[in-house]
Amino acid sequence: MAVEKTFRKDKPRFRRTYQRRKICRFCADSSLVIDYKDPKTLRYFTTERGKIIPRRISGNCAKHQRILTVAIKRARNMALLPYTTSVIR
Ligand SMILES: [Zn+2]
Repeated sequence: MAVEKTFRKDKPRFRRTYQRRKICRFCADSSLVIDYKDPKTLRYFTTERGKIIPRRISGNCAKHQRILTVAIKRARNMALLPYTTSVIR
């Protein structure tokens, strides 16, 4: 009876890519205020199609992301930010 050695394909591979620690822009700069009447700063946290950029991309903290989301939604309602943009192509 031959003992078959199984080749482990699922060997743990070290693919740890170094990621820079993202900092929350609002925590770092206390002069930066989240205001729904200020679409300039809010626009930075939306994609060009008008979607809100997730926290894992933008690096915001949970507290500020929550405030920001509400601010963006308010700004959309007041037509300061777009809900979506039409494809120009
Ligand atoms: Zn923050």
